[in-house]
Amino acid sequence: MFEKVEVDESYIRIPKDRLEEFYINVLTALSVQKEDARIVADNLIIADLRGIESHGAQRFGRYVRAIKKGTVNLKPDIKIEKESQVHALLDGDEGLGQPVSYKAMMLAIEKAKENFIGMVGVRNSNHFGIAGHYSLLAVDRDMIGISMTTTRPLVVPTWGLERAVGTNPIAIGIPVKDKPPFLLDMATSVVATGKFELYKRKNKPIPEGWGLDGRGEITTDPNKVLSEGAELPLGGLGELLGGHKGYGLSLAIDALCGVLTNATWSKWVKNTDEKRSNVGHMFIAINIDAFTPVEDFKERMKRMIEDVKRSKAMKGKKIWYPGEKGAFTAETRLKIGIPVYHKVVEELNGFAREVGVERLV
Ligand code: NDP
Repeated sequence: MFEKVEVDESYIRIPKDRLEEFYINVLTALSVQKEDARIVADNLIIADLRGIESHGAQRFGRYVRAIKKGTVNLKPDIKIEKESQVHALLDGDEGLGQPVSYKAMMLAIEKAKENFIGMVGVRNSNHFGIAGHYSLLAVDRDMIGISMTTTRPLVVPTWGLERAVGTNPIAIGIPVKDKPPFLLDMATSVVATGKFELYKRKNKPIPEGWGLDGRGEITTDPNKVLSEGAELPLGGLGELLGGHKGYGLSLAIDALCGVLTNATWSKWVKNTDEKRSNVGHMFIAINIDAFTPVEDFKERMKRMIEDVKRSKAMKGKKIWYPGEKGAFTAETRLKIGIPVYHKVVEELNGFAREVGVERLV
């Protein structure tokens, strides 16, 4: 039994199926279409199963509040604006981010089956949850999957003093023989915004180097970063530890998801609880057989990973590959349930009361 997160608050374990049923009940009571509710629930569940606390049960409230406020179109008319054998551009019609993202990746996969590669952009969308969910759809079909998105601006550019770029995540999923898939699923800021929210809820200081206060000084107060300051790009402050690379990666994602799709770049992306959030996404599916027989490739991926894992580790430490800890955490949580903090359970039960469905527990 392995869990990658230290569960450090009072919580209860809830079986995945119960959580899934609960999310779908609340969302459909709020008039979300059943299939769309299922996809949103899947995203939240995959996050919690894999130990991505920032984007599981804790994140549900943000969607509920946006839906109640009426900023999300619950009956979107998703249109294919452009299409070829290998690409497409979808207009999400201001609907929830997860359903249109699911459709977009499935379309990319269909194209890759026939034509070896599929690349599908989305504009006019909303927050899509964890990027890894969509890359895993390709991995499940023995393909390589890449997913990314713009987000609202919460991060300073290198040497900048104000929020100007997004936490723009990217997830690259690759199948591996006899092992959990490689899944690098990461924000291009030091950490995802949800981690600041997590520390705020726990009333704990953030590590030095995650964010700045309103005066541009390093702070350990998550409230200051969230209210008046800014997050730092992956690599941190300045150029010494590579902050410029995280910033550059974030801008590249803005270019692919926001500029290329004719959505908008992070500076202009709005929060889900504001109208016309206009988030842009990009999904790529690569059919491995286009390059090499898929089974040979998976075998070589396994050898590549084993080579790295066999290298010498620091005392008391172990070498992991991206996606490994997440997969083991999911295996454990499928058996013993997902830990949901009491404060989050209270919030979820509050939503149940408001919309008239059964409490979570
Ligand atoms: P983490 O820093 O927790 O993890 C990033 C990646 O590093 C994961 O693939 C993880 O794999 C891997 N990893 C962790 N430890 C090791 C290790 N020792 N060796 C090798 N690889 C390792 O993620 P972030 O905080 O950056 O992002 C969390 C989530 O937030 C992501 O799912 C992302 O998609 C989402 N996000 C969504 C946004 C949105 O607006 N929709 C915005 C920003 C982020 P493993 O899972 O196996 O630990």
